[in-house]
Amino acid sequence: MANVVVVGAQWGDEGKGKIVDWLSERADVIARFQGGHNAGHTLVIDGKVYKLNALPSGVVRGGKLSVIGNGVVLDPWHLLGEIETIRAQGVEISPDVLMIAENTPLILPIHGELDRAREEAASKGTKIGTTGRGIGPAYEDKVGRRSVRVADLADEATLEARVDRALQHHDPLRRGLGIEPIDRDELLAKLRAIAPGILAYAAPVWKVLNEKRKAGKRILFEGAQGALLDIDFGTYPFVTSSNVIAGQAATGVGIGPGSIDYVLGIVKAYTTRVGEGPFPAELEDEDGQRLGERGHEFGTVTGRKRRCGWFDAVLVRQTCATSGMNGIAFTKLDVLDGFETLKICVAYDLDGERLEYLPTAADSQARCTPIYEEMPGWSQSTEGARSWADLPAEAIKYVRRVEELIDCPVALLSTSPEREDTILVTDPFAD
Ligand code: GDP
Repeated sequence: MANVVVVGAQWGDEGKGKIVDWLSERADVIARFQGGHNAGHTLVIDGKVYKLNALPSGVVRGGKLSVIGNGVVLDPWHLLGEIETIRAQGVEISPDVLMIAENTPLILPIHGELDRAREEAASKGTKIGTTGRGIGPAYEDKVGRRSVRVADLADEATLEARVDRALQHHDPLRRGLGIEPIDRDELLAKLRAIAPGILAYAAPVWKVLNEKRKAGKRILFEGAQGALLDIDFGTYPFVTSSNVIAGQAATGVGIGPGSIDYVLGIVKAYTTRVGEGPFPAELEDEDGQRLGERGHEFGTVTGRKRRCGWFDAVLVRQTCATSGMNGIAFTKLDVLDGFETLKICVAYDLDGERLEYLPTAADSQARCTPIYEEMPGWSQSTEGARSWADLPAEAIKYVRRVEELIDCPVALLSTSPEREDTILVTDPFAD
């Protein structure tokens, strides 16, 4: 298959970093198509740890083209800082290996300020749990047609006009929240200062990718967050500000949907969620604590402790459908080692009725209680397993039951953070 989309199939933190890195070795181009620098990917290569937020995972592999698509919102100061950090780790980054779509909207300091002020002002229960990095407000400005976009940095008159348009909207909002007015000159000076650094990477990404596609190059589309945080299909309003599901890969870079050959969902062997919002299979007992500790479930960006629960097959079946997954990468199976009994949420009970999907209405979501199926656990370690023969029979049964319940086959199975500790069933790039 020429082009593969990778999408998180839960609430993010499924271990996309490792799988994207694994796949990026087989790809010619790696493209980000949504989100901002709230995504925290951790890559471990030869024992060296790379933490990426805005940069596509391909940058740490030589000889690949990494692309930031127009579906992303870009904080240019953060990006340039991240480039410096990664360079300091010995990775070469130049316009030959990194391209930014000219029509990418920028995240400005005013977006982060607005994001944080709103979260502070929100009362308990209405906080979204954002990372405070301005991503939501930047997407609002994109839809409101008042973004400063990458291409605008090239022309002083356009840049000033775009900034003025944004300020017209933001100043009254800031007054209402008690934030001081924006210093226009300071903002413009900051933008002028980063313009050459960013413009060096600017390109008509849609054109480049269509040419690559015609030339038979393999494109890997790297999703961020997870499908349950999708602005349309997630647990609204506790969601991210962009579409996360696979369809976004096409609009987020400018290729046709028919150019996507394979969609790979990344699925963790249990469930986690950061911040507020419904989570029917959440565990607030010792088992939840144990999953969090064994899985090191703390946010890479925020350091926040993640909420943990058993595997929720209802949710993953749903995200496999909305993204049209062809297969999944099942990760962190090793975290389940040593549990005597495992539970899988197979349906919900809503007011005495069995429901096979998550209802949309918030009050119904809140009333859904999980219906569990129990399976025997295993005492042997699966950590580092590289073939089915290395797995205990109970672990294989667990994986097979998950495939059945979510109606999607396992293409890859991950058993440790190391990229070699992966069992390959189907190579998404294979013809
Ligand atoms: P992302 O947000 O989906 O990209 O998730 P990350 O890449 O941040 O992954 C979360 C963490 O899980 C990282 O520390 C990974 O190294 C780790 N990880 C990934 N796959 C596995 C696995 O199969 N087993 C274990 N134990 N850890 C894993």
